Amino acid sequence: MTETLHRLVYYSRNHISGDAAAFAADIDDILAKSRANNGRDGITGALLFNAGCFAQVLEGPLDTIEAAFERIQQDERHGDVSLLALDPIAGRSFPNWAMGFVGLSDVDSERFAGIGPSSGFDIARLNGDQVHGLLRDLTIEEEKAA
Ligand code: FAD
Repeated sequence: MTETLHRLVYYSRNHISGDAAAFAADIDDILAKSRANNGRDGITGALLFNAGCFAQVLEGPLDTIEAAFERIQQDERHGDVSLLALDPIAGRSFPNWAMGFVGLSDVDSERFAGIGPSSGFDIARLNGDQVHGLLRDLTIEEEKAA
């Protein structure tokens, strides 16, 4: 039997403190663990960090993305975790990313600097489709640049 793929989208508020180097080290830890677990669990997706907020898309079998989301919600490195969408999907938007990440590079900073002032960009004000579209566009740009 073919399992129906699902997409889960959420955002949360950063609780990691410390300087930029400490923050980058924590992000590296999160990404390493995410990529190992997600590769094992058939999950793909992407994580965005901007202005004190995370936004993440997880795609895969329903049981494994729900289990990952349970773990993620209990993680003290962030809080106020808000589910934006959980829907069946026809195909993956991030087939090549066990967990892509956008948000810390100089290029990402320039992108957000461009988006922010003109639109009042705030992850917390986007809906699930908007977060998914934003992350899909940003990871496509990353793939082209790689
Ligand atoms: P272990 O790595 O053995 O961890 C055991 C416990 O320790 C967990 O409760 C974990 O939350 C906690 N922990 C581990 N390291 C730290 C630390 N440095 N500081 C505080 N607590 C810590 N996990 C995924 O599998 N897939 C994802 O896509 C994913 N995305 C994430 C996105 C964000 C924004 C954050 C903050 C975390 C994300 N995580 C993700 C990590 C997730 O929250 C769990 O930490 C991880 O899944 C636990 O893996 P494990 O069961 O192998 O436990």
